[in-house]
Amino acid sequence: MKDLIRNGHYIDGKWVTGPTLFPVHNPATGDIIAEIARGGEAEAKQAVAAAAKAFPAWRALTAKERSIRVRRWGELMLEHKESLAELLTREQGKPIAEARGEVGYAASFLEWFAEEAKRAYGDVIPSPFPGSKILVTREPVGVVAAITPWNFPLAMITRKAAPALAAGCTMVLKPAEDTPLSALALAALAEQAGIPAGVFNVVAGDARVIGKVLTESEIVRKLSFTGSTRTGKLLASQCANTLKKMSLELGGNAPFIVFDDADIDAAVRGAMASKFRNTGQTCVCVNRFYLQSGIYDAFTTALSAAVRQLRVGNGLTGEVEQGPLINQAALEKVQAHVADAISKGAKVLVGGKPHALGGTFYEPTVLTSARHDMLIAEDETFGPVAACFQFDTEDEVIAAANNTPYGLSAYFYTQDMKRIWRVAEAIESGMIGINEGIISTEVAPFGGVKESGLGREGSKYGIDEYVELKYLMMGGL
Ligand code: ADP
Repeated sequence: MKDLIRNGHYIDGKWVTGPTLFPVHNPATGDIIAEIARGGEAEAKQAVAAAAKAFPAWRALTAKERSIRVRRWGELMLEHKESLAELLTREQGKPIAEARGEVGYAASFLEWFAEEAKRAYGDVIPSPFPGSKILVTREPVGVVAAITPWNFPLAMITRKAAPALAAGCTMVLKPAEDTPLSALALAALAEQAGIPAGVFNVVAGDARVIGKVLTESEIVRKLSFTGSTRTGKLLASQCANTLKKMSLELGGNAPFIVFDDADIDAAVRGAMASKFRNTGQTCVCVNRFYLQSGIYDAFTTALSAAVRQLRVGNGLTGEVEQGPLINQAALEKVQAHVADAISKGAKVLVGGKPHALGGTFYEPTVLTSARHDMLIAEDETFGPVAACFQFDTEDEVIAAANNTPYGLSAYFYTQDMKRIWRVAEAIESGMIGINEGIISTEVAPFGGVKESGLGREGSKYGIDEYVELKYLMMGGL
């Protein structure tokens, strides 16, 4: 693992340190893993200049040459899977098995977009005018800024960098303050993969200052952000003056609906995967369980039994299935949501308090009798708390599920084919798991509607976010 630890920025192919450092903590132990240079305005500007300088030569490479380098980057991730997974668990806290899974998921975007690089086809449109031809080409947008969160410190980067680089763009990345080491390890592998200097730059440090440089720059043509809706709106407003292209993957408030006719065992398996993965800290984690009256007791009993089995602890040790929350603020949010729910009548079936391990560990929790005036119904908890609501009719649950400004993911379980189509069409979200709790894959378009964001990542559509169409009218032929 040590060979992948870097503590400076990666700018123009060089490792750059600075006078001020900030610590990166292991959330499971509180230990300092490393101290990292704290970047600010100067480093962000240098990185933008480097990305601008590198852009003409990178876009001029053939798609196949870019593809070879992007693919090699992904292969190197897999060759260093154990080291990357260990680093990821140390700085982020997720169980090592999930960290290994994330390395594979992150590398899959590099493989996928290395392939898509070669398929950025244009068009020839039949012209309505004699003696002319109409062509459409696809060009890279230019210098891209990426700002990424701490919950998937590798995958949220490759999901942006892979299509950007494949399309011929160059990038400046600002990773989350809690998890910069994974981002810097990725940069070390990019260097080894032969990604030229300036094509992929990383500046860690003061989010507000670096973010301002990136969003206000006239050189940066696109912002790709994953994080909270609050920060996404702020960054969008900062980008308004230069009218940047934007991809925003923001918060969610995912409903998980179980109808009376569902396969309860399958629904509980889906619920466990979708709610408790990454300690409930994914933007597609279930936030609201809606259970039809006929199966309410059976489901909450079975879910509680499964939740009681979850082993909580340091993700690096033994068979742990749930790690700590990322930081103290995250713990306080979970505590506030649970306290508010209990004060309004929710009942605790399992958990409901900080874990005896201390630190930011929280007990896997199941609450019943949830209601819509609770914080837990309005805002994503981002923690290991399953809040269960009861409903009677399909119309009632669709209205409840859609009663949120968010629209990222939703899940429902039923065996009725007509209901599957009705509900899938009625739910306002970018992604739906139908009898399935895990939906993320590089081959499918990930993204939300409403205040969950703009654009799609992954899949054949993902590269569109990093290209502009250029229309050529050729006359006088
Ligand atoms: P969370 O609250 O879950 O950490 P954020 O949206 O605050 O979610 O963080 C996601 C990313 O956005 C992180 O990289 C963080 O540093 C960055 N970020 C937060 N605030 C700003 C800001 N004002 N300008 C630029 N980046 C920001």
